[in-house]
Amino acid sequence: QKAQWAVLKNKATITADGQAIELGANIGTPKDIAGVLDNGGEAIGLYRTEFLYMGRDQFPTEDEQVEAYSSVLKGMKGKPTVVRTLDIGGDKELSYLELPKELNPFLGLRAIRLCLEMPDMFRTQLRALLRASVHGNLKIMFPMIATLDEFRQAKALLLEEKAKLQAEGVAVNESIEVGIMVEIPSTAVMADTFAKEVDFFSIGTNDLIQYTMAADRMNESVSYLYQPFNPAILRLVKMVIDASHREGKWTGMCGEMAGDEIAIPILLGLGLDEFSMSASSILKARSQISKLSKAEMAQHTDHILALSNSQEVEDYVTKLANN
Ligand code: PEP
Ligand code: MG
Repeated sequence: QKAQWAVLKNKATITADGQAIELGANIGTPKDIAGVLDNGGEAIGLYRTEFLYMGRDQFPTEDEQVEAYSSVLKGMKGKPTVVRTLDIGGDKELSYLELPKELNPFLGLRAIRLCLEMPDMFRTQLRALLRASVHGNLKIMFPMIATLDEFRQAKALLLEEKAKLQAEGVAVNESIEVGIMVEIPSTAVMADTFAKEVDFFSIGTNDLIQYTMAADRMNESVSYLYQPFNPAILRLVKMVIDASHREGKWTGMCGEMAGDEIAIPILLGLGLDEFSMSASSILKARSQISKLSKAEMAQHTDHILALSNSQEVEDYVTKLANN
């Protein structure tokens, strides 16, 4: 099987009925690029920049960040590269950043909330991204967006830093797409409104499932509620994809679900444009997708979304995947 997949390494991802899909990789550091290209990745769908901030005793400087982002962009040689701005807080801490203890860290000051609370830190990252942007096909993505207002604030800071850099004579890529992660139910529900202002969506199912089901993704005692195939999740996914397409935008998925062979057929049927997963899953997914008809998968979606619970959906999509 490995040998069969290997021939797909430099091929595009095309469904059996001729539809192009983008298969990207999730990475944590510039060192991961070799593995992405080696596994035939067409894009980076999620670069988790928080690792650049972790395991050290002070913030990375602007120049250090420019170096990391540039090396990723150069390494990807013009292929789409989605860089997520700092997603710290929740379970991820920085030793050098004292934050108030919270009763519910996952519902607290994390990700974009923290960045908007600490604009100097955020501006440094945005400047570094803008300076690096000339080296490739950069797309900037904000994590944990709950309201349109947060997106507007974050984008305004980005545009301010861009204008400052340009006034300093620094070259900046003019075609950077700016998108958001959809990992909070309010944002999925409001996707039609967001779609008028964002360039793209990427669905973060790891968090979207925990917030939709109100079940901590790390808590064993409620893990039975952590249901990727709950119809509620798939209905939210559909809302986001449909809303993006009505505005001519695209939707990806960078949560674990995107790389799950049981989930891939239904996600294809729902119209997902980009799947981002661990690099080691890409060739297998390409092989699977090449045998699936998107139009045929789409015919199953109404039925699946009308099922009443996770088990029914899982049974149905398992059959779809094994056909
Ligand atoms: C997600 O929430 O699905 C996601 C991709 O982000 P993280 O796992 O880093 O929270
Ligand atoms: Mg997340």
